[in-house]
Amino acid sequence: MTLIIFTDLDGTLLDRDTYSWEPARTALKCCRQSRVPVVAVTSKTLAETRVLSEKIGLDPHFIFENGGGIYLEEEKYLGLGIPYDTLRHDFLILAARFPLRGMGDMRISELVEITGLTEVEALQAKERLFSEPFLYAGDELAELEAAAAGQGLQIVRGGRFYHLMAEKQSKGNAVRQWVQQLGESFDRPLFTAALGDSPNDFSMLAVVDHPFLVKHKNGQSESCSLERITRTRDVGPAGWSEAVMQLLDNLSDACRSGEENCHV
Ligand SMILES: [Mg+2]
Repeated sequence: MTLIIFTDLDGTLLDRDTYSWEPARTALKCCRQSRVPVVAVTSKTLAETRVLSEKIGLDPHFIFENGGGIYLEEEKYLGLGIPYDTLRHDFLILAARFPLRGMGDMRISELVEITGLTEVEALQAKERLFSEPFLYAGDELAELEAAAAGQGLQIVRGGRFYHLMAEKQSKGNAVRQWVQQLGESFDRPLFTAALGDSPNDFSMLAVVDHPFLVKHKNGQSESCSLERITRTRDVGPAGWSEAVMQLLDNLSDACRSGEENCHV
């Protein structure tokens, strides 16, 4: 059996405010030693995720822009969403009716101020391919969602921004595609786990064998009606570490009790 861990980044593996993964370092090392791939599944762009995946030591085949695409290799990716130019056109139609401010409307300095990213990171965040993050200053979210649905689009809430994207685009669909496209390269049956902290992670948590909901920095867990879900006690990357160590421990026990060719 081969364990694959799919993980959200902001607020889950990375601290929501500082973007640090320090508390998860030991657990990440255990994954590397056990040859367990850790795959980023994030609302970040391809450009941002490629840099971060390398820095943290994650699997090179990651899922970006909330399931908009799967990065394969050497600049190649599998696109699963509506191309950004079309999406921006659709966004401007909505912005004419609702008080929206898209990432495409923001200067780098504004983005830096909102997110705390560096200028280089903010530039990478603006390299969108399949989604438009935006801020919404109104209180008619249901009407906005209905208008988006009328255009074949959906709105998903992330940690800091709402995200406009194709109706069927989701982290869950992309995880399924990932397993279909890349699962064959593993010669043992896959056992999948996923970790996330926000509603845009729920579709991913719903399609894996072992879903974990990581507690927010304010000490609260997102309310989630999914069954079989394990909630962490710790918050952010410390919660990530707690969940992954538990996962590795459980699977090592399964290996010891007779599972052959187990990868942990
Ligand atoms: Mg998150």
